[in-house]
Amino acid sequence: MVNDFVYAQPVKIYFGAGEFDRVGEILRELGCSRCMLVSDRFLADKAKQMVESVPELCASFSDIEENPQLSGAEAVVRMIRELDADAVIGIGGGSTMDTAKFAAATALGDAELTEYYDGKKPFPEKRLLVIAVPTTAGTGSEVTQVSVMSHGKEKKTINNPVFMPRIALVDPKLTSTVPPRTTMNTGIDAMAHALEGYWSRNHNPVSDLMAIESVRLVLGNLETAYRDGGNLEARCNMSLGALMGGLAFALPKTAGSHACSYPLSEDYHLPHGEAVAFTLDSFVRINADERLQELCRRVGLRDADELADRIAALKELGGLRRRLGDLGENVDVGKLAHDSAVHPLMGNNPVAMDETKLREMFENLR
Ligand code: NAD
Repeated sequence: MVNDFVYAQPVKIYFGAGEFDRVGEILRELGCSRCMLVSDRFLADKAKQMVESVPELCASFSDIEENPQLSGAEAVVRMIRELDADAVIGIGGGSTMDTAKFAAATALGDAELTEYYDGKKPFPEKRLLVIAVPTTAGTGSEVTQVSVMSHGKEKKTINNPVFMPRIALVDPKLTSTVPPRTTMNTGIDAMAHALEGYWSRNHNPVSDLMAIESVRLVLGNLETAYRDGGNLEARCNMSLGALMGGLAFALPKTAGSHACSYPLSEDYHLPHGEAVAFTLDSFVRINADERLQELCRRVGLRDADELADRIAALKELGGLRRRLGDLGENVDVGKLAHDSAVHPLMGNNPVAMDETKLREMFENLR
């Protein structure tokens, strides 16, 4: 029997190759005339040119690092206030979109950003609208109410409706320059969102359908996008797969692999997608109940073992770190297992995973 559920998806989605060229028109439709452009570093020059050519844009900021720091959002907030901006476009990977989302949600408040980050102050009631434009096919941040920000060594996922973008503008052409390794990291991240949304304890039947289609698209296109980045059909299918992966986990939230990714990123500096991929095939085997076997059959696979093998092969193809030895000489398995076990997302995993079971899982990766 289907469990009761509530489903809501408030983001207007524009999808298509070349769709980003309509950004001025979309801003005019929204009534925005002083929009701040927050862009990934690789787009810094293009961002400056756009500010000169699109009258609705007033300034750009492009100094955002991977696993973005709160200080980046603070710099954006200062500019928003100085320029009296009325909207924010975040164009880049998840790091850039999350910075734009955090800045837009806090710029009209009067507290320090650290107070919102630490949960000491509620987010302001008034905020700027966000247009999220992904340039990687991975995070799905363009359709989630999540902002993942780091402050010092701490990396925190903050889930709050204030972060929901107004518009997701998904233009697969923007992903054509993503290097192969990042294509692989981010593509496996997209599949992890779909799988974890699907097997989350909070899954619902609408998100489930998104998840199945996302897994099908990623399995069918990631290798081509990795080997031939200029293949627009594969890039389009990956962007769609990542968008649907975002929709698949936006409500159910992620689970075991994402919980483990936090210590892997914080202590061993793996990029987000690679950190998620590190344990994804292990969790496919651990979580292989009848529902997961059904997903596998619906995407054309024999069973969950085949899915785990396909993920492992993609990781190998992309040169991703896969074994504990790849993380360095002094891997503290006890701390990895502990920090993963206490992460709140671990509670969403369909199979209860305590520190002992997680230690066993990591030991199998020696
Ligand atoms: P990223 O934004 O950190 O970008 C990775 C690298 O790719 C960067 O060096 C960037 O400059 C480069 N890059 C991006 N687009 C490019 C392009 N088109 N061409 C060339 N280079 C390009 O990576 P990501 O995986 O997109 O985002 C990861 C971040 O998103 C992490 O902080 C993660 O925790 C977070 N995240 C957020 C959500 C959410 O719902 N908000 C979901 C999953 C992950």
